[in-house]
Amino acid sequence: MKSIPVRQVEPDKGSDKIYVRSATGFYQKIRTVSLWALMGLYFAVCWIQVDGRPLIHFDLPDRQFHLFGATFWPQDFFILTLLLIICAFGLFFITTLFGRIWCGYTCPQTAWTFIFMWLEEKVEGSRNQRMKLDRKGSLREWLPRKVAKHALWLGVAFWTGVTFVGYFYPIRELVPDIFTLNLTTAWAGFWIGFFTLATYLNAGWLREKVCLYMCPYARFQSVMFSPDTRTVTYDFNRGEPRGPRKKDADRAEHGLGDCIDCGICVQVCPTGIDIRNGLQYECINCGLCVDACNEVMDKMGYDRGLIRYATETEIESGKKHWFQPRTLGYGIAMGLMIAAAGWMLTSRAPVELEITRDRGGLYQTGSGGTIENSYTLKITNRESEANTYRVTPLGPDGIELLEPIETRIDSLDSRTLPAVVQIPRDQIDEVSTPVKLRVDAVNSESSATSETTFIGPGR
Ligand code: SF4
Ligand code: SF4
Repeated sequence: MKSIPVRQVEPDKGSDKIYVRSATGFYQKIRTVSLWALMGLYFAVCWIQVDGRPLIHFDLPDRQFHLFGATFWPQDFFILTLLLIICAFGLFFITTLFGRIWCGYTCPQTAWTFIFMWLEEKVEGSRNQRMKLDRKGSLREWLPRKVAKHALWLGVAFWTGVTFVGYFYPIRELVPDIFTLNLTTAWAGFWIGFFTLATYLNAGWLREKVCLYMCPYARFQSVMFSPDTRTVTYDFNRGEPRGPRKKDADRAEHGLGDCIDCGICVQVCPTGIDIRNGLQYECINCGLCVDACNEVMDKMGYDRGLIRYATETEIESGKKHWFQPRTLGYGIAMGLMIAAAGWMLTSRAPVELEITRDRGGLYQTGSGGTIENSYTLKITNRESEANTYRVTPLGPDGIELLEPIETRIDSLDSRTLPAVVQIPRDQIDEVSTPVKLRVDAVNSESSATSETTFIGPGR
């Protein structure tokens, strides 16, 4: 298979400030909707409560993770790991079809850079006005605009930090605690400061440098590309030779292609590249140059699509291929993992029983000729209601608890209890006998069984 050449980033390229020109058009509208929607979700979800509990809450002190009404415990970590792997495969699947579309339309770095650039344009004006302000603006003109812009950036960054911490420290308590200087943990203050600074620097100052030099996805995404991956592409067959001309000039007469070399596709590019140089490592597939060039084509009276989402095969031979074996492979792997995660989620036991043997001694001899073993039980109630639980030993004839165990446990809580199991001496033939304990909920059908060993003197 023919590989797509990827141009490496010049290390000194990022030193020049990029003044991005705003663009309007079909893809920019999609980006605006997707980026505002995702940011809206980020800022809103931590405020939403269901049955008095936040929709998403990572409760680290109690080691519980509440996601959309379900509660996960550290024991469920493999399900969360599986969900993350599914997300990764989803990303690979989309990348084989549409390249770095994730970067252009949904990546948090893009979303926050987008809002920071939007604020910048509101305060400092268009691309030309910003360039003029930085190069020729008087201090009287320059200072108030810069102060206003950075104050707005810091405001957004601060609220981003507060919201992030609000997924760990219930936001309805966090916000009043911040404004009354009453945070229950200094860590919350540290992480708010950390995320405020990280957001301000990443979206305000570093911007495209994060995509170029820091993002790991940018480093490995090219291995998933093939000539049938749909990316933003300049149609060089149609565009070259490029050159300026009057609107009504005859292209054939001047020996020119459709590109009028206006450079607008470069001016709108958030990473500052020229897509006419071919597929590049820095391109985040945002489609801004597509919209900008389409507008130029409209003005010139040419067909749209000189820059468009297209595959290398399509540009070179005009043939469109959607099917790729690797896409099918990622799709099948993703489907299997989604099925496995679904099964694991639906088959999670609503009550859990853990048994630990006490280390004090192997066994004791009880009154009446019984042998006794001591254990510690941990019963976890994963149901949304409090319940009462009863423990029953299962094993050889005559097995029973020295003291009956019945305990009430709050929803999403656990209780640790001592238990002594006794078995008549004549029922034990081996040194080690497997026994089971079962816990049954009194007010529901929930139950769980766990196995342990019972140590005795043997024959
Ligand atoms: S916007 Fe279109 S016409 Fe203008 S330079 Fe870019 S590719 Fe050529
Ligand atoms: S080249 Fe076009 S699609 Fe790629 S990052 Fe620049 S504007 Fe976006």
